Amino acid sequence: MSTRIEYDLLLVGGSPSNLTLAFRLLELAKDSGKKLTIAILEKGKEFGSQVISGAVSHPHVLEKVWPNYKELNFPIEAVCNDSNLSVLGSSGKWDIPSKLYPKSFDKNGYLVLTLSHVVAWMARQVQEKAKDVPNVEMDLFTGFSAHQVVIEDGRVAGVSVVENPQSEEDYVYAKVTAFGDKGFISRDVIDKFKLRDNPQIWSVGVKEVWQCNEDYSGKVWHTLGWPLLDGTFGGGFVYGMKDKKLTIGMVISLDSADPNMNPQLKLQEYKKHPWIQSMISGGKLLKYGAALLPEGGYYSLPKQYYVPGAILLGDALGVLNVKNLAGIDRAMECGRIAAEVLHEGFLKGDTSEAALKPYQERLSKSFVIQDSFRDRYFRYTFQKNPKLLGQYLPKVARGIDGGSPISGLISAGFPNPIGAALDGWRALSLMERGQDIGPIKYEADYKHIVPDFVTPKYDEPPTFDKNTIYSRPDAVFYAGTKYHEGNQHIDEFNADVCIECIKRYSARNKAVPCVADCTAEVHRVDVVESVKRHGMSLENCIHCRTCEVVCPEVNLRVKPTEQGSGPDFMGL
Ligand SMILES: Cc1cc2nc3c(=O)[nH]c(=O)nc-3n(C[C@H](O)[C@H](O)[C@H](O)COP(=O)(O)OP(=O)(O)OC[C@H]3O[C@@H](n4cnc5c(N)ncnc54)[C@H](O)[C@@H]3O)c2cc1C
Ligand code: SF4
Ligand code: SF4
Repeated sequence: MSTRIEYDLLLVGGSPSNLTLAFRLLELAKDSGKKLTIAILEKGKEFGSQVISGAVSHPHVLEKVWPNYKELNFPIEAVCNDSNLSVLGSSGKWDIPSKLYPKSFDKNGYLVLTLSHVVAWMARQVQEKAKDVPNVEMDLFTGFSAHQVVIEDGRVAGVSVVENPQSEEDYVYAKVTAFGDKGFISRDVIDKFKLRDNPQIWSVGVKEVWQCNEDYSGKVWHTLGWPLLDGTFGGGFVYGMKDKKLTIGMVISLDSADPNMNPQLKLQEYKKHPWIQSMISGGKLLKYGAALLPEGGYYSLPKQYYVPGAILLGDALGVLNVKNLAGIDRAMECGRIAAEVLHEGFLKGDTSEAALKPYQERLSKSFVIQDSFRDRYFRYTFQKNPKLLGQYLPKVARGIDGGSPISGLISAGFPNPIGAALDGWRALSLMERGQDIGPIKYEADYKHIVPDFVTPKYDEPPTFDKNTIYSRPDAVFYAGTKYHEGNQHIDEFNADVCIECIKRYSARNKAVPCVADCTAEVHRVDVVESVKRHGMSLENCIHCRTCEVVCPEVNLRVKPTEQGSGPDFMGL
């Protein structure tokens, strides 16, 4: 007879949030002597192998949890000593004077990080600490995904660890389950407990790491403009790391009107800019990867951050602050606060819903939710007034390409300078001056797709080194994907829906959104017995979930894989 495995605490995802939680809880249990059993499930083959970020991050939470992080050889790529916010045309670049841009984009003193290395370091700290706390039994499992949420008597009781569970051994149960899984399965908790009034909206982050000939360590650029000059929200980032390595990436919102917004291609267009060319020409591509970022902020947060038997953390909760591209410290703070709340509950022998409530109360008083509230209209401002990115930004970019940002700024005001000034004033009032317009509503990203979208014309960058540009199939090689036999991790719900969708887009001479927007050459159209059908090369998939978000028919679901299959993001 098989026995039921039950832990006190189950952490789904070896994420910055959950590993912070685990470490802090170990510290608290060491002091209190409380006996605990804890398990961590990470779907990647090792901790960090399926984590990707920029990343530039403020160390304030790190300092609270690991005050001696430097002595512990915390992996730092560089400390930012030169922070820039720049606007790009396709050939020109304008570094906005620091006095003119929001303080949130001044990253001087922040750490430049490789998040996969940080996560691997955190997992080692947890393992080391656990040796020192004999009253806690800590089991760390890599290559194990949580596949389904188990709900018993109205509470989350645990998860299944295989796609098709057959016996009790295929489940892990716990008094409390903490989801730091970027929503992979915790979205089912949000749906099941009806926690959402407003949908989450997403962007996709695509990133490459380059070996350069020069040293750019400590230099940080965030950019607006080229190649996002079609009204799509987003921008680029370039971070200088030690050993002459350079991170080049883009964060692109998935509420783009363009049904053929190919993020990997956009990143190649970005790299064609002469400024980036000057850094990577003659260099070598080391890694490529992509992942989603939750962008909705305050009004996309679930009504409760906890349900009976479970809590939500980090990107699974949606606490990333898009205004300053900060998710790591927010995720870690979720973990820090959760550890304290859970420890108090375990000490009292109380893991009821009421015992989890202080998690939401304390997080709401912390900088995490306070900042989210303060910046609640940032993303919305750009949705509300499409002229900001679709009309004014391209004019400024043209001025920059013509050699004069000032003439670009002036031309942005024509033919209606008063209207433009008012638009600028209204945007700043919402984003910077605390104007309150009450709760806002978002629509799911795919609803913004305009099938007949016409890409506005803009001159291409002048010349570029062809060796620095990679096609999508070639880029996949640098994501290190590897799958087990029989892998089937994306569900297509209805093949007939795809046939109709393909007909609609073929009639417009366009690719269907899943094919165009995939970051890794997975989706394709096959002609089977004269019918165009949707097909997938799943062995290429890098788990970003973009296809699911942009499918206009909500006809896909990207699931966790088994046996540690998927991309290898170590180094991203
Ligand atoms: C390209 C890019 C650039 C970014 N730049 C920055 C930046 O400069 N600064 C910054 O602060 N933030 C940045 N972010 C955001 C930041 O990386 C995230 O907000 C942060 O990593 C969220 O942490 P988390 O704890 O929620 O977990 P995540 O980092 O989302 O990690 C989730 C973990 O859970 C695992 N997992 C998922 N599902 C399952 C499952 N079912 N079973 C088991 N394991 C599972 C995954 O493999 C992964 O290890 C960036 C993000 C991207 C994509
Ligand atoms: S998966 Fe979605 S986007 Fe792709 S063909 Fe099917 S319906 Fe269209
Ligand atoms: S198939 Fe979907 S999840 Fe996989 S890489 Fe493409 S867009 Fe991302």
